[in-house]
Amino acid sequence: MNKVKGTYDVLPNESKMWQALEKKIAQLMERYNYKEIRTPMMEYSEVFHRQSEGSDMVTKETYDFLDRSDRKLTLKPEGTAGVIRSFVENKLYVGNDVVKLYYVQPNFRYERPQKGRYRQFMQFGVEAIGIRSPLLDAEVVSIAYNFIKILGLKGAKIKINTLGDKTSRTNYLEALKAYFEPHREFLSNDSKVRLDKNPLRILDSKDENDIKLVKDAPTPLEYLTDDAKNYFDDVLKYLDSANIDYEISPRLVRGLDYYSHVVFEVEADIEGFGAQNVLGGGGRYESLVEELGGPSLGGIGIAFGLERILLALEAEHINLASEDAIDAYFIVFDEAHKKHAFSYAEMLRANDISVEFDFKKTSFKNQLKRALKLNSKYLLILGEDEINQGTITVKNTVTETQESIKQNDLLTYLKEKLGE
Ligand code: AMP
Repeated sequence: MNKVKGTYDVLPNESKMWQALEKKIAQLMERYNYKEIRTPMMEYSEVFHRQSEGSDMVTKETYDFLDRSDRKLTLKPEGTAGVIRSFVENKLYVGNDVVKLYYVQPNFRYERPQKGRYRQFMQFGVEAIGIRSPLLDAEVVSIAYNFIKILGLKGAKIKINTLGDKTSRTNYLEALKAYFEPHREFLSNDSKVRLDKNPLRILDSKDENDIKLVKDAPTPLEYLTDDAKNYFDDVLKYLDSANIDYEISPRLVRGLDYYSHVVFEVEADIEGFGAQNVLGGGGRYESLVEELGGPSLGGIGIAFGLERILLALEAEHINLASEDAIDAYFIVFDEAHKKHAFSYAEMLRANDISVEFDFKKTSFKNQLKRALKLNSKYLLILGEDEINQGTITVKNTVTETQESIKQNDLLTYLKEKLGE
């Protein structure tokens, strides 16, 4: 049997990278006072399939199915809508000006799999919901910036743009329509449809001819209302004041339809990284909370694809995880002595010392071989003499020095040595 197309296993030798990455995320989120939220893998389809949402991701790529009672369900293709559904359902807004949440969870999209693109993939995302404040937007951009920084990634940069408020957006959409309409015949078939439905999408097209036309298309920056312009300027001022590097990218729009105001992406600029170089993306949304039945509150979020983060780390030869090692390995010469090893192991493990032994009957040489393969710092040797004298021979595998100690002193001895 094989795994489902577009999915992957995290094998035991790979899981430590994931654990190290998730640890970094938790540490970062603590610094910014964001709390973790875990929402279900599946939601009622209408959470994602909303009238206003016409992105390819939601219309063409979701895993939709009926459960055994004919409920229409969808595996979540992105993190935000589920989090907002929960935010509304649990009334998290009550008594809070702003609710700062993060998640590390899998998403599902029926896309064409390739390096950096899977049908089940992990995202780390944050959502700051509530008050509309340029300071909050700047904070979320700062999270993206510092996430990259604490990982040590050098070749990643932040690209930022604004779509403005409703009025700016409406005016801009008209300008885009007016610009593309005379070129309609040169647009790809997909973009012809986009021109009628949401011309913003054309800016995201991967089609060569579309890209040529997009080069001279108007940008949202030319259509901002004074309010929207001031808002964007304020966000940038905060970023400048904290020396957060970014690049304004005037034709950046995002894949989902719910964005307004600030949109941004984190792009990898690493040699040989490949086509899937967008590590993360996000922006401000103003109508989503209301659309999902909540009060009139906005939010801002970002989501990173963690497989792509791991690929970027690999490309830059950064290893977050420490080498596998254990503290101690019991070596016995007689099967009858294994019960001593087992009971000492129990005591050591209860004191946070990692211990291993052999499960089969095997020679000293083989036990030693396995201990070294597992990178054990100490060998705990229990032979006939040791058992009779109530001692244990403890050997340091690095210095190759050994000492005979009383079995009763084992814990104190190892604690002291391992703490050095
Ligand atoms: P999006 O929700 O499309 O803005 O995606 C946010 C981030 O998730 C992207 O920048 C990618 O890093 C990651 N991502 C999106 N789709 C996939 C996928 N199919 N496989 C792996 N990562 C993905």
